[in-house]
Amino acid sequence: MNNVANSRRNAARAERLQQKVNAGFVDKQYPEVASIVISMSYNQRGILKSLPRIVNFFPSSYALFRVDCLSKGCTDGGFDLSQVITSMIRNRRAVTNGKLNCEGNGISADHSDIIYEVTIQYT
Ligand SMILES: [Zn+2]
Repeated sequence: MNNVANSRRNAARAERLQQKVNAGFVDKQYPEVASIVISMSYNQRGILKSLPRIVNFFPSSYALFRVDCLSKGCTDGGFDLSQVITSMIRNRRAVTNGKLNCEGNGISADHSDIIYEVTIQYT
């Protein structure tokens, strides 16, 4: 990896950390939430087999509901489930399904997507 790519990657990482700090913790933002599970199949263009991934959030987790893109060369992409999850909490919904494309545009626009199911348990 060259220096430019390296420093760009470090900057992206630092920015993500700052976003986490700004987001605060789940128990402070959403005290009624006991746990959040994002269960998804990650599909990458050119790869036939989809990859199952599960991400768990607990009251002690950062309230940043963002999942990284696994595509090589995609540094600023990812899948933002914040709107999905905050609207579920507002309506006290337990399960929601959907699909999101990667937000990154470094490579092709449709290089990856996820089919997700979010499950929330309330206290
Ligand atoms: Zn991506």
